Amino acid sequence: MPRPSWMWIYGLVGAFILGWWFFADGNDAPVPSSWTTVGRMVEQGEVKKIVVVNRELAQVYLTDEAVRKYRDDKSDKQLRHMPETGMQLTYTIGSVDSFREDLKAAEARAERPVEVEYENRKNDWGSALVSLLPWVLIIGVWFFIMRSMARNAGGGAGGGIMNVGKARAQVFDKDSSKRITFKDVAGHEEAKVEIMEIVDFLKKADKYRELGAKIPRGALLVGPPGTGKTLLAKAVAGEANVPFLSLSGSDFVEMFVGVGASRVRDLFEQAKQKAPCIVFIDEIDAIGRARGKNAGFSGNDERENTLNQLLTEMDGFQTNSGVIVLAATNRADILDKALMRAGRFDRQIEVGLPDAKERAAIFEVHMRPLKLDGEIDRSFLAKQTPGFSGADIANVCNEAALIAARHDRKAVTRADFMAAIDRIVGGLEKPNMPMTAADRRATAIHEAGHATVMWSLAECDPVLKVTVVPRGRSLGATWSVPDEDRIHVTDAGLREELAGLLGGRIAEEVNYGTLGAGALSDLERATKTAYAMVVYYGMSKKIGPISFYDSTGTRDTFTKPFSEQTAHEIDSEVRRMLDEAYACARRIVEQKNRQINEMADLLLEKETIYAEDIERILGPSAHAEKEEKAGRPDGAAPAASDAAAPAPAAAAEPEPEPAGLE
Ligand code: ADP
Repeated sequence: MPRPSWMWIYGLVGAFILGWWFFADGNDAPVPSSWTTVGRMVEQGEVKKIVVVNRELAQVYLTDEAVRKYRDDKSDKQLRHMPETGMQLTYTIGSVDSFREDLKAAEARAERPVEVEYENRKNDWGSALVSLLPWVLIIGVWFFIMRSMARNAGGGAGGGIMNVGKARAQVFDKDSSKRITFKDVAGHEEAKVEIMEIVDFLKKADKYRELGAKIPRGALLVGPPGTGKTLLAKAVAGEANVPFLSLSGSDFVEMFVGVGASRVRDLFEQAKQKAPCIVFIDEIDAIGRARGKNAGFSGNDERENTLNQLLTEMDGFQTNSGVIVLAATNRADILDKALMRAGRFDRQIEVGLPDAKERAAIFEVHMRPLKLDGEIDRSFLAKQTPGFSGADIANVCNEAALIAARHDRKAVTRADFMAAIDRIVGGLEKPNMPMTAADRRATAIHEAGHATVMWSLAECDPVLKVTVVPRGRSLGATWSVPDEDRIHVTDAGLREELAGLLGGRIAEEVNYGTLGAGALSDLERATKTAYAMVVYYGMSKKIGPISFYDSTGTRDTFTKPFSEQTAHEIDSEVRRMLDEAYACARRIVEQKNRQINEMADLLLEKETIYAEDIERILGPSAHAEKEEKAGRPDGAAPAASDAAAPAPAAAAEPEPEPAGLE
């Protein structure tokens, strides 16, 4: 049987009180009246007493005979109902003075005097109730809120005001059936070795302790999103066979002050109870951002408190207590230095974007559950997906299966994988987009322009294919695959990239004499690259080897780190670079305009053309010729002669670049 809800009981009690107030006096309520009636009664000597309450209400008490007389009087319907005892009539007086005068006049004519009393009644029932009402309401609302909170708190997920300071870590227990192991993580061999040691610490803590070694307390996994940091951390827990507490940095953030710190305390409390175990904090930059920057603006004391608590906790527990903290972030540069000092996250494990071999391995992992149509070449797919993260590849595999299902195929084919890659890079294909023939030709000329300029420049990434199938927001695309093994980005390469980006627009200009607005994204990228070359990479002779890049991300955005004078010089250098790139691309386009038109025709006919088609029109690419001269077959690994770091991602985007008309 359902229990009656508390709301009903509250409602009934309320209704009862109100009803009491309105109807309590029931039948013996005095009859409302006026001075005309009462004055007449006074004159006839029928009034015993009048009580004036609060200077406004007159309560009239009649003599017993008068009461009997009126109650028996059938002609006056109102007065018949007067009560037998207590007051019989009430009426409102205008003012006490006029009441007295009227009464005196009436008394003069009466046989007997009237007794008059004045009363000041403050706390009669009504006003008491009225003054209680707000309290009743407040208490009622409070009860209601507490009850609903208690219900939430009982409801598992740990809501409720009482639980706000509790850390809601997701716990994966060691005997959970879905254990992730290193087998599920493809690639990342170095990271695995590093992290394997942590597994070893947990498994064979004694071995290390006997030697007097301290077990590290934490490791920070650093890398772009989707590269498998969470996966790696889960695999550690799976391999070490210990409980795994996972939560995200933003879980510590709450509206209330002090909650973050209290959650950190609670998290470590839980962890110590489960030790040996692994605590994993995803996106730790949400709380671990360097302290004291911009504090005046954001007033983010709360985050600092949380971070401080985390620092203390990490220092606090004994080295051998068997709790290891793993954290993941894609912005290690903005983390507080105190977090990274030895004794806290003393190990930083780089989890970078996978290279071609690793991508093939990731394809292998994610193809396992798929039903494939024959053998699909993983390394071919890996070559087609430079710059893809593990998550992207997982997405490609899933998308391929969806595409196969859409075409009612029994197994996933290679074409499905290719379509999935195109879809993920370029967006949804829109074959039915309404477009005039002239627009289509302009798009074809534009893409042919990109392809021709890029084909003719040795340092440009090799062109893979050109398409005029509209996708997402672009009408066409020229795909080039960056040379995987080339980690050394040179100024010559970037200059040629600029020329390649401008090539499309110039081809339109040369052939039609007009400038299309469609080259917006090309121009945007070209401008950004040119600025990056000047202010980040120090590739301009005039500005010199200076970089204004701020890897810590802590510089405020309002002031420029250079003077007005330098700003002018930067602008003129960027302009000069773009002008040079323009001149270079223009030269190529004018020289090879016949081939561009030929390529555009082919594009209109076939929609997508590949490197072989381009080679037939333009001859071998400058890139291939250069490789040949260097004595390397295309694609072989050049010896990385020096240990130059790859350029920061600010300008050199490694994805296949759809340099599209929009
Ligand atoms: P991150 O935490 O680095 O943002 P995740 O670990 O959440 O990324 O990875 C997201 C998904 O991508 C994983 O669930 C997995 O399916 C896939 N993935 C990423 N890297 C790999 C890898 N090296 N091997 C296998 N799958 C991967």
